[in-house]
Amino acid sequence: MNFDFAIANLIIFGPGRFREIGDIAQSFGKRALVVTGKRALSEAGIVDNLKQNLEAKKVEFLQFVVPGEPDLNLIEQKMVKLANADCDLVIGLGGGSVIDTAKAIGVLLTNGGNLLDYMEVIGKGQPLTKPAVPLIAIPTTAGTGSETTRNAVIKDPNTGVKASLRSQYLLPRVALVDPELTYSLPPEITASTGLDALTQLIEPYISKRAQPFTAALIQDGIQRVARSLIKAYEQGDSIAREDMALASLESGIALANSGLGAAHGFSGSLGGKYSIPHGIACACLLPHVMEANIRSLQTKEPTSPILDRYAKIGEWLIGKRLETEQDTRDAGIKFVRELCLRLKVPSLRDFGLKLEDLPEIANQSAKSSSMRANPVSFSQDELVGILTSALG
Ligand code: NAD
Repeated sequence: MNFDFAIANLIIFGPGRFREIGDIAQSFGKRALVVTGKRALSEAGIVDNLKQNLEAKKVEFLQFVVPGEPDLNLIEQKMVKLANADCDLVIGLGGGSVIDTAKAIGVLLTNGGNLLDYMEVIGKGQPLTKPAVPLIAIPTTAGTGSETTRNAVIKDPNTGVKASLRSQYLLPRVALVDPELTYSLPPEITASTGLDALTQLIEPYISKRAQPFTAALIQDGIQRVARSLIKAYEQGDSIAREDMALASLESGIALANSGLGAAHGFSGSLGGKYSIPHGIACACLLPHVMEANIRSLQTKEPTSPILDRYAKIGEWLIGKRLETEQDTRDAGIKFVRELCLRLKVPSLRDFGLKLEDLPEIANQSAKSSSMRANPVSFSQDELVGILTSALG
């Protein structure tokens, strides 16, 4: 066995713990760069709450508002303005888009250079050599787990490709996870982000880099999503919100340490070319990837332990083991399909994806790091086949 395991320096979890932000920020210095989203959190009073807590502890701040998913040009433009900002800490308050932007800014402030010097797939992939400005990551969606991962997903608007900046220096110093911050999430974002978390729990469990530390968290996370995602979506119930915030955190730890798989490999490419929420892309592909992986393993490696893991995933999702492993695996896939129906997940066609676009998406996806961690290496034809079945 061979593995690494890295998480944020400190994880602070619990309803109401956002109130501690003033003290936490003060422990890192006097001047903060606060990265937030555009509107939703201001309207919910959460940004004002943050500012009041910082003012109470005499922490000065400047704010950067992120309009959407992280964008290479936008971050580069911001870096020019921040050259002399002299910040002691960065606070990322928002969904994965905001936290990833905050991560990228934090490392560029200390390492200098451009994003493309360091980005994988689309850039030079040079290593980041200096620790980032300390980052306090505060998620307000329950899905990406970015508060405890070592990558930031950034889109190059010139090519429409999404790729990662990846380094141990991207791990936040503090992940402050307060489920109350997710109470204002509308149902459709609760659904898309929750399905991202589920995919981030399933894929690391069957990945080539699966390992025991993440396995324990994955079981807990899958069971929480299975019992609470629909409740969070339909009722916004506080226990369900807490379950989803924790499952998301666990999914981030799982993906950062065990990698992902084909559903994420495809969704990265789809997200670069179409305006499709990341979690929706993952959800549209997840049951088809599960099926294709199982089918391929049964044919090529019938004694693979991954087949047993798919049965465990089925068991955690449906809450029991059926008579045969195959029945339990199939029930897991059926659970995911029904969950998507209940959460009204749109089809990939609704975002403009057409049959003729699939070979290029398959080609692009094959280069992603997530695809390389998938337990099965698919040919180009097989990748197109999975996309075709997901397109319906
Ligand atoms: P998001 O950050 O793009 O936010 C989606 C929408 O939700 C936005 O309009 C935002 O304003 C709104 N929102 C956020 N919090 C809210 C709240 N509490 N109440 C009401 N509205 C709220 O969505 P996301 O799914 O969290 O992040 C997606 C991004 O994260 C993608 O770019 C994806 O590639 C990336 N990602 C990164 C990692 C990682 O490990 N770094 C993992 C998974 C996904």
